[in-house]
Amino acid sequence: MTTTVARLIFNSIVPEKLRSDIPDDQPIGSQELKNVLQRVAEEHPEQYRDISFKLMRLGSKGAVETGSSFSMQDLESPIDKKKLLDEVSQRENDIFSDSKLTQEKKEDLLVKMYDKYSSKMPDLIFDASIKKGSNLAKMVASGARGNKSQLNSNIGADFLVTDQFNKPVPIGIKSSYTEGMSPAEYFAASYGTRAGLIATKFSTQNSGFLAKQINASAMDLLVTEDDCETKSGIPVSTGDKENIGSVLSKGFNGYSAGTIITNKVLQDLQKTGRPQISVRSAITCSASNGICSKCAGVRERGKLPALSDAIGLAAASALTEPLSQSLLSTKHSAGVANASKVTGFKAINSLFQVPDTFPDKASLSESDGTIDKIEQLPQGGFSITVGEKHHFISPEHEILVKRGDKIEAGDRLSSGMINPSDIVRLKGVGAGRLNLLKQIQDTFKENGINVSRKNAEVVTRAVVDHVKIVDADETDGYLPDDTVEYSSFSKTYKPREDSVYGDPSKSIGKYLEAPALHYTIGTRITPSVAKQLNDMEETQVLVSDKQPSFNPVMVRLMENPSYDKDWMSQLGTSYVQKNLKKNVISGDVSTDIHGTNPLPGLAYGKEFGKPPKGVIGY
Ligand SMILES: [Zn+2]
Repeated sequence: MTTTVARLIFNSIVPEKLRSDIPDDQPIGSQELKNVLQRVAEEHPEQYRDISFKLMRLGSKGAVETGSSFSMQDLESPIDKKKLLDEVSQRENDIFSDSKLTQEKKEDLLVKMYDKYSSKMPDLIFDASIKKGSNLAKMVASGARGNKSQLNSNIGADFLVTDQFNKPVPIGIKSSYTEGMSPAEYFAASYGTRAGLIATKFSTQNSGFLAKQINASAMDLLVTEDDCETKSGIPVSTGDKENIGSVLSKGFNGYSAGTIITNKVLQDLQKTGRPQISVRSAITCSASNGICSKCAGVRERGKLPALSDAIGLAAASALTEPLSQSLLSTKHSAGVANASKVTGFKAINSLFQVPDTFPDKASLSESDGTIDKIEQLPQGGFSITVGEKHHFISPEHEILVKRGDKIEAGDRLSSGMINPSDIVRLKGVGAGRLNLLKQIQDTFKENGINVSRKNAEVVTRAVVDHVKIVDADETDGYLPDDTVEYSSFSKTYKPREDSVYGDPSKSIGKYLEAPALHYTIGTRITPSVAKQLNDMEETQVLVSDKQPSFNPVMVRLMENPSYDKDWMSQLGTSYVQKNLKKNVISGDVSTDIHGTNPLPGLAYGKEFGKPPKGVIGY
């Protein structure tokens, strides 16, 4: 075993089982430290104070005794920069001396060339500095200070920056801050600085607005029951560490339904080789007016949440707080070769706001069937035919299917970003929620933000929760075209007379009349739905031959509170005037000052926070 003295001291503080996932020859950086402390908090909260204190002392002592700082040598370029710059100027000369190129084309080629260097420099400089033993690079590696891009600006070269419109500035910045810049480089770099400043201001403003709306949608989700006793759950990969703290929705390999998943349970389940298990989730909870403690799972405080915990607000804050810390830097995001890909705040915002003109939108199949035709269009792009439906694929996107492929409505035909409201429309509320959950996790991760799955589940449950009534004869108390919350609609839903229990694989083409796994009422059973149900051992589902009398919809985040049953809760958002008028006209309104939404109680004032005995609310 190869290790260091410092690591042995660290090991003497942290019990072996809590650092089992960090090999002894791996350095402990801020991320590893964070993971260890998180595990202590979750698995041994009683030791947290002691361990964190000792680690803090170890850090202070280490800092004093080593006197770690950086030296002038650390500011010298760690690579042969002359060779690199000769290479660059050779390419510049090639581009400038080509008389066939227009000025515009020349600039374009220059920018692309600089962009290539710009994206590889941070790693190049960082790796070379580490090799040289630079303390500055060690600070970056440990996560203590700075990042690779900042190290590169200081001792390497930025090559390319973007202006505030995210357009690349076509002047190559070849000097580092340490070397000093030429006037032209300085002015080019100042565009990047300006873009950074503007992005910081806007990211605070935009992410603040998004956070406000996510909060408004999720704030009425309280823990209203201990156990809703649902049999539903979401399918998750067995190896996913985020399962720790969730509750099994079904018995698997000796562990019964209702078992809280600990590290040990998860390891045992992983050993069985089963690829997926199903766990209780905020997404599939059937508690009235909120979420039950079991479906919420063990959270930050290491135990199941107590009754009346405001987990909606906690989850919304956990998701949106990192957004406003302007972690979504725009610097170097020009990615000229990749200009159509939507990243950063814009991607995250689109997931929730689902705008009509969805950026970088992937094409999804509108119906079940076979890919009949793929034709190139004279104006650019492609047309893909599935049965009677034609789908346009824009020239920026790649086709991901071939002729003869069997597909289902809502399956992806091209690259690009999936509009979550399309999945809800084509595959149902349940599948739409699971898709949004995955998209939230992936998009945040791409932007360097780790969100806990349980928090993302709560927010997903809050934002994807609507159906639009088509036939009012079959839905008591609703009018055609009414958009209502699925969570309350499903409580009073009565299965239709022709409903029967059947094996999912023998029910293809029928519609669910009761929830199963994460699938919601009204979901059409397709071969892939049947397979997923069978894989998770859901052998009997309640189905009907008839199309449901409502359509699943994902409403824009901004309009979400407008569909709350409580008329006063609708006023805590935009569209106040519209909502007020709507309620005056309908006349059929009610409010509850001790309900799960804090707004009516706050407006009334006097009894806020003092609900009658036995009532869960504000
Ligand atoms: Zn529940």
